[in-house]
Amino acid sequence: QQTDISEMLEDVADRFSFQIRQKRIHISTRVRDDVASAWLDRDQIDQVLGNLVSNALKYTPEGGMIQLEALKNEEGMLAITVRDSGIGIPKKDIERIFERFYRVDKARSRNMGGTGLGLSIAREIVKAHGGSISLQSELNEGSLVTFTLPLKQEGGSAP
Ligand code: ATP
Ligand code: MG
Repeated sequence: QQTDISEMLEDVADRFSFQIRQKRIHISTRVRDDVASAWLDRDQIDQVLGNLVSNALKYTPEGGMIQLEALKNEEGMLAITVRDSGIGIPKKDIERIFERFYRVDKARSRNMGGTGLGLSIAREIVKAHGGSISLQSELNEGSLVTFTLPLKQEGGSAP
């Protein structure tokens, strides 16, 4: 459905407001004018955003920051980014991170809960909608997940 992107990003932040407050995380959202709204499957994209923000929260220590941003990329796609200032991911693990059940190491994940499915589900959803998802990370500095979605309706003539 036609979706206000700012509203969608603020909604996902609201859904995690308890944990955000508890960990004193600074969260911000920014939406560029040319992607103020888009035609998308709200339930499914909410699930992607939920998985990514849940990770950002889980793997960012108290007092850290999370930034949600939406922009139009070079290919004319809607790109949504979730950046955190968390523990990051070692280089050797990054390429496997979207595999089902893959978690970086038992020590860091043991007390975190979860099954290692969040990112693989996010990738399935994004692919099914004609987009792609990627992750960049620097150990001990933070992570940046970017996913893209077509801005135009399939076969439609939306501007
Ligand atoms: P689930 O999502 O099923 O609750 P999970 O969060 O462990 O469990 P994924 O979301 O698929 O699983 O993430 C896989 C692994 O990637 C995580 O276990 C964690 O080690 C690493 N990871 C994911 N996102 C981040 C992040 N933002 N910062 C640091 N590490 C991350
Ligand atoms: Mg997860």
